[in-house]
Amino acid sequence: MLTIDGSSGEGGGQILRTALALAIVTGKPFRIERIRAGREKPGLLRQHLAALKAAAEISGATVDGATLGAGSLSFRPGRVRPGEFTFAVGSAGSATLVLQTVLPALLTASATSRLILEGGTHNPAAPPFDFLARSFLPLINQMGPTVTAKLERPGFYPAGGGRFSVAIVPVSRLLPLEIQERGVIRAIRARAIVANLPRSIAEREANLTRRLLSLSEDSVTVEQIEGAQGPGNVVVIEIEAEHHTEVFTGFGAAGVRAETVATKAAREARSYIASGAPVGPYLADQLLIPIALAGAGRFRTGPLSRHTTTNIAVIRLFLEIDIDCVAEPGRIWTLTIARHARSRQ
Ligand code: ATP
Repeated sequence: MLTIDGSSGEGGGQILRTALALAIVTGKPFRIERIRAGREKPGLLRQHLAALKAAAEISGATVDGATLGAGSLSFRPGRVRPGEFTFAVGSAGSATLVLQTVLPALLTASATSRLILEGGTHNPAAPPFDFLARSFLPLINQMGPTVTAKLERPGFYPAGGGRFSVAIVPVSRLLPLEIQERGVIRAIRARAIVANLPRSIAEREANLTRRLLSLSEDSVTVEQIEGAQGPGNVVVIEIEAEHHTEVFTGFGAAGVRAETVATKAAREARSYIASGAPVGPYLADQLLIPIALAGAGRFRTGPLSRHTTTNIAVIRLFLEIDIDCVAEPGRIWTLTIARHARSRQ
């Protein structure tokens, strides 16, 4: 059985999620120790437990150690069973990260799936729903499957209570994906969103974002969302280029000024625009898994994050794959993913 050190590299929840995702696809059991040892509150949090249970449910796995706070566990997957599932985090923990765990296996399952995911949909330090829908899933769909996601109710930290559905029409094999150029930037749009908070917060954010990115009046909107369980505030900036769309976000929190939220999102967007690379820093680590499962692909991105280098290490444990990272001038990296020569024969 593979043994994984959860404290290596990033030392966070992503090591567990990637291991689960790849264990289900490959059928390889694993044991993980020192789970999230690199974090202030180590061990399994609700969000990680939800991902673990979701992975176990779709693969009929035997799990030893699935308790809140656990520092180690073992996971022995069975066969992937597509179908209808509801996965609830049970807190404001990110529901999109639960999807990240089960989606790879369902992309090449034997039948369609329909998932309901409940929990946080707009969490700091996790993929916001808009990133999933506008940036990540369109690329997955270029690889063959048809995945559609619909936000039913947003869930913000700390109240949670969000809900979205995902429909997955699988393929027997994922197609390789290449994203080497982003092409011309066609549009930059920004949305400043508030739920159960004064509209003036979003208006201040919209104004500042417009100024910082030199956007026109009609490419920035203010939205007041109904139906969220608690207060929430997010600035979402979407950069639509010829070959790819990227999404950057800033999250409001108690005690954080609206201007700080807008500035953080705009700074990330500006740094992406200036880098010239098509794949943004968050997408880079997330895209590695489907491309590694396809067995071939290439993309260009900015400086490699620790999430990316850590994900590469975990992927190499499960798959016979080469991931070649070559630095170019201008702080751009080209990542080339290919099967090992002997497994290609
Ligand atoms: P912990 O750090 O507490 O263990 P975790 O399990 O929530 O937490 P990480 O291991 O840090 O998570 O992984 C976070 C994931 O969320 C990564 O895949 C990262 O790319 C993604 N992510 C973080 N911020 C964004 C963002 N703004 N947009 C898109 N994806 C994001």
